Amino acid sequence: MENNMTNPTTLPCPCKSGHTYEKCCAIFHTLEQKPARCEQLMRSRYSAFILQLGEYLFNSYHPDFRGDVTIEQLSEKSLDWRNLDIIGSESLDKTGFVEFKAWYMLEGQLNYHHERSNFVKDKDQWLYCDGTFYPEQKSGKIQRNDPCPCGSGKKFKKCCAKN
Ligand SMILES: [Zn+2]
Ligand SMILES: [Zn+2]
Repeated sequence: MENNMTNPTTLPCPCKSGHTYEKCCAIFHTLEQKPARCEQLMRSRYSAFILQLGEYLFNSYHPDFRGDVTIEQLSEKSLDWRNLDIIGSESLDKTGFVEFKAWYMLEGQLNYHHERSNFVKDKDQWLYCDGTFYPEQKSGKIQRNDPCPCGSGKKFKKCCAKN
């Protein structure tokens, strides 16, 4: 009998979907299922960066696009990611895209990485190819009374603006 209190898979999924990890990205990380839509793959890759699952990141990265990157490099600690906002996504038969903002803390400021990622589906497996990057934004432009972009539900000034 598993003790749910100590089972980390019952914690909220790092992709901030609102589901527990075991009902969300863990299904893909354990290869129990393949993502049906590229948005699911994108979320599971975001979670994999946080959980440092280099092998998953490597295998879901299209070989024609990943260059010389290694599993070891992809397993290294990534940025201090705080939240993921999916802005738009489309999954067609063989291609798809996801536009997102991924928020991270750097030197006391909350910034976001804004990207439109391209995916292809190869033998039932969605793969990340490349992305168009939009200019980064720093938290200086977020009003102190705005909801914190990390998704905590608190005001920015009472949350990430403090650390
Ligand atoms: Zn997830
Ligand atoms: Zn916050």
